[in-house]
Amino acid sequence: MAQNRLLYVYKTAINAGLFVNLQYNLKEKFGVMINFKKFNSIISLTSYFTSDEKCKQVIVESRWGVGNEQDVVCPYCGKHHCKMSKNGRFHCTECNKNFSCLVGTIFENTKLPLIKWFLAMYFISSHKKGISSHQLSRDLSVTQSTAWYMLQKVRLLYPQTDADVFDGTVECDEVYIGGKEKWKHKSMRTPKTQGRSTKTKTPVFGMMERSTFTNSKGEVEPITYVHAFVVENTNRATLQPIIQQFVADGSRVITDELSAYNGLAELGYTHAVVAHGAEEYANGDVFTNSIEGFWSHFRRMIVGCYHDVSDEHLQQYIDEAVYRWNTRKMSESERFAHMFDKSIGLVRKWSEIRVGLEAA
Ligand SMILES: [Zn+2]
Repeated sequence: MAQNRLLYVYKTAINAGLFVNLQYNLKEKFGVMINFKKFNSIISLTSYFTSDEKCKQVIVESRWGVGNEQDVVCPYCGKHHCKMSKNGRFHCTECNKNFSCLVGTIFENTKLPLIKWFLAMYFISSHKKGISSHQLSRDLSVTQSTAWYMLQKVRLLYPQTDADVFDGTVECDEVYIGGKEKWKHKSMRTPKTQGRSTKTKTPVFGMMERSTFTNSKGEVEPITYVHAFVVENTNRATLQPIIQQFVADGSRVITDELSAYNGLAELGYTHAVVAHGAEEYANGDVFTNSIEGFWSHFRRMIVGCYHDVSDEHLQQYIDEAVYRWNTRKMSESERFAHMFDKSIGLVRKWSEIRVGLEAA
């Protein structure tokens, strides 16, 4: 039961004001007393989570509830009401396995103190442009390779597979990431690689919903949400199924003149086109400037922090940038609560997601 709430996504959470603190439905369901709202600084984290036991207690309560309401579910066979044994681990009478509260979380099998993981999640989510493994290793006093490993683990929390379906007005756009062609000597350049080419650059496709939310003062504020994915190419056959997967029927879709977007009207969308070729960048509210804002945010993150990103890891960095963008109206403590929530849930690997995308 507790795991269902892990599927909360930004839009739902923000609209419902759910993440004001992690208590949202935990309190209703389990009467959990710990309030994540207080975790708004490193000091507040370190002074609360003073031992591994304390960290584990919060993990147990968040996963399975407290007191009479507690229902420990075996992560191996799904049996309910498992009991704690003397050593603090749990025992399943069905499959006869012992397990700790860390099984199935990103902390499983870790040898590090859990507070270092909690701090890592806090640092990673609060640095607007990302954090390098060098910086994280200094902040946590761990080796750089440990910091790199932690960053990789935390990035597993970002995938967009549980993403919302967008509606209303949605900007779609594509960019090409990478490619050092312009720095190469002329004779070394791959022919015809300027502009839209997938020979040396990786195409990335993004969709952005223009939306609003009600802030803590009760005022309605504009907000945008984004999804972005590495794609094989920017053909119609590639892009349109993704639009169909992530943009609700009947929405208004704004794109540039790329022919891959032809025929969106037949799919049930209202299609508005910005004529970039005619040097038209905005016609009333027909523009793609919002999503271009996201691309430049992403480029800054890559340039400022991660420098060279291999194609293999590109989607992970995109997921991270998407996460930052979609949670940027959250406070530090809200974002930490959101990440904590994900950290104790099912961790999906990028390979699994890629399979899902290709099938789409
Ligand atoms: Zn079991």
